[in-house]
Amino acid sequence: MMLGVLLARQGVNVTVLEKHADFLRDFRGDTVHPSTLEILDQIELLSEFEKLPHNKVRHLGVHIGDRLQEVVDFRGLRPFDYLAFVPQWDFLDLLADFGQRFENFDLRMQHKAEELIIEDGKCVGIRSESPEGPVEFRARVTVACDGRYSALREQAGLKVKEFGAPMDVLWFKVPRSEDHPDETFAIVGAGHMMILLNRSDYWQAAYIVPKGADSELRKTPIGEFRRSVESVAHFLDDETGIPASWDDVKTLEVRVDRLEKWHMPGLLVIGDAAHAMSPVGGVGINLAIQDAVAAANKLGPALLRQEDVPEEVLALIQSRRILPTKIVQWFQIQAQKRVISAALSNRETPPSLPGWLRFLLRFRFVRNIPARFIGYGIRRERVDSER
Ligand SMILES: Cc1cc2nc3c(=O)[nH]c(=O)nc-3n(C[C@H](O)[C@H](O)[C@H](O)COP(=O)(O)OP(=O)(O)OC[C@H]3O[C@@H](n4cnc5c(N)ncnc54)[C@H](O)[C@@H]3O)c2cc1C
Repeated sequence: MMLGVLLARQGVNVTVLEKHADFLRDFRGDTVHPSTLEILDQIELLSEFEKLPHNKVRHLGVHIGDRLQEVVDFRGLRPFDYLAFVPQWDFLDLLADFGQRFENFDLRMQHKAEELIIEDGKCVGIRSESPEGPVEFRARVTVACDGRYSALREQAGLKVKEFGAPMDVLWFKVPRSEDHPDETFAIVGAGHMMILLNRSDYWQAAYIVPKGADSELRKTPIGEFRRSVESVAHFLDDETGIPASWDDVKTLEVRVDRLEKWHMPGLLVIGDAAHAMSPVGGVGINLAIQDAVAAANKLGPALLRQEDVPEEVLALIQSRRILPTKIVQWFQIQAQKRVISAALSNRETPPSLPGWLRFLLRFRFVRNIPARFIGYGIRRERVDSER
């Protein structure tokens, strides 16, 4: 959606296909980081974004042992000193409405991309399925951004490198009351881990389970699950009866992978389709948006010249985005191995932070380091095209 909007804004004719009828989906991450806020500012959409229902989070903590340790601190960072938590559907609706201001932006909902049209080894468009029947789109460049289960990347025969993940995540909501903590934080204990995002009147909770454990867990009564949640986060009250059934608990199958090559003639792959991200750090949306900006900066001028876009231009987009992707995924994999795996597998000894680290984390400039990495990332993209 972001790439479509950025190209349309430059004057390129662009069609965005979305298989669903709307963006109202389960929780898929609501974190809009400073790197994305900067992009919204550059396209003069920030003030409208700020009208959406959102919370600003300025620091993040970990409840480890019996203390809450602040670990990530955005205060003092410029130009944005917070993460914005915004329902993803509101954010996507905002972008879609923005796109509609350009007559060359064509958003087709309920259009499922079914098949790449390949002629003489080059992708020249997409066959899609819509409520009115099959529709064919011809394009000088096709961009696959169909997410972590991308069927298009498979059709293109692009090789995937899988990195694996030791956990899956169960997402659900629980009511939040006045006497609950104010922070957004993680709880790490012997054999368990949970993340609680403060969304004013409710908690968006992430309960981390060992990979594949979800199907066995779902055979037990939901009350048992509520009690194990309460045993980790003592202030949550099992009496609320929420989540009321397993239908209210959504499983995120965590995967981390990356395409070796993100392109073939006429086709570029970006976002989760090119590199499925672990939820560690909540960076997936923001990295996908950075890909979109890099792609729009390179594709727009070539498309406006009405030229064919050579594969070398597509390769340039990958080479611009590959380093930040590799670095972020490396950190995610290390966190999965060293923190999450270790916490989940050790049911005897509660984990603790070493004294030297606790000492260092007393200083805000130290807590600013992970905040800068998570919030602004590496190789920040800038919208360099005129409206
Ligand atoms: C439960 C969960 C929690 C997450 N939490 C966070 C978080 O807190 N913070 C964060 O930054 N990231 C989070 N992520 C990751 C984040 O959602 C992704 O990294 C990000 O959305 C990737 O963006 P994308 O545009 O590449 O793919 P997606 O957001 O997956 O978008 C793909 C789109 O393509 C559509 N589509 C798929 N196939 C087709 C087709 N054949 N034809 C037409 N349309 C199609 C889909 O409906 C979807 O709208 C989470 C993911 C999940 C699943």
